[in-house]
Amino acid sequence: MEIINIAIDGPAGAGKSTIAKKIAKKLKIIYVDTGAMYRAFGLYCKRHNIKCSSDEVNSVLDKIDISIDYVDGEQQVLLNNENVNEFIRNEEIGNMASEVSANKNVRIKLVELQRKLAKKQSVVMDGRDIGTYVLPEATTKIYLTASVDTRAKRRHMELQKKGIITDLQSTKDEITNRDNRDMNREFAPLKKADDAIEIDTSHLSIDEVINKVISIIGK
Ligand code: C5P
Repeated sequence: MEIINIAIDGPAGAGKSTIAKKIAKKLKIIYVDTGAMYRAFGLYCKRHNIKCSSDEVNSVLDKIDISIDYVDGEQQVLLNNENVNEFIRNEEIGNMASEVSANKNVRIKLVELQRKLAKKQSVVMDGRDIGTYVLPEATTKIYLTASVDTRAKRRHMELQKKGIITDLQSTKDEITNRDNRDMNREFAPLKKADDAIEIDTSHLSIDEVINKVISIIGK
């Protein structure tokens, strides 16, 4: 059977994971959340008191094994064989992931795993550099974006649902900082691939975005 690889990139809070998950389900292929891998790396640094932006990260690369597994269709991230899914979904780890992801050696290590996954099966993979660096030959490339205000509001609501109280302005500041770091790092920064199709989700419902993506894939 033909292998198809769908790359979905974009800034934080643009709706990548929601859309990518639903597209994968519709197409009956697997969803690979690459951000979760960088988050697992960030978690390792937190647990071992390693500053994510320091060169110390290079000295622990060999001690870190990150892999993924699927339970009931949900991606599980394993950090040295421990399922760490429940520890990586918070803003602190998101920021640590963003810092550690600027390290070229960290990226090379994780990109190898990402490419292997996409080579052996059809995937919808989301991240920041999938269309530009990880899978430059991807079948379809989508760049999802939305205004920073919309993204901050979405993130703020998500956090509220989890019972986490933050103010909207600080959520907006965090998102802006994270985007700046992701877009301005030297190696494999976040940017739209030349052949990616951009969708601004600011004024679209989830179903509208999905329909657009499915029609792009169909073409
Ligand atoms: O998408 P998510 O918020 O889980 O990603 C966390 C961080 O991991 C991002 O801010 C980004 O710095 C980094 N990341 C990356 N490349 C990817 C996926 C995520 O640099 N392919």
